[in-house]
Amino acid sequence: MQASLDRFAYGLPDPQEQEPPQVAQCTYCSEAIYADDEVTDVEGELFCNDACFRRHVGGCIVRAGDVV
Ligand SMILES: [Zn+2]
Repeated sequence: MQASLDRFAYGLPDPQEQEPPQVAQCTYCSEAIYADDEVTDVEGELFCNDACFRRHVGGCIVRAGDVV
């Protein structure tokens, strides 16, 4: 069986695999955000994951002790 790329294709929806509707997009990377996705919400701005939020605000992960 071939891997499904339906999420990236346009056309008739596959009744076997209904995607939830896209409700928003990530503020940082513009990735589609679908209903029921677990995302980071910051005062109404949605980020597809914590990394996008961190980059949006200019943050990054460091090891405490290396920089302070
Ligand atoms: Zn994102």
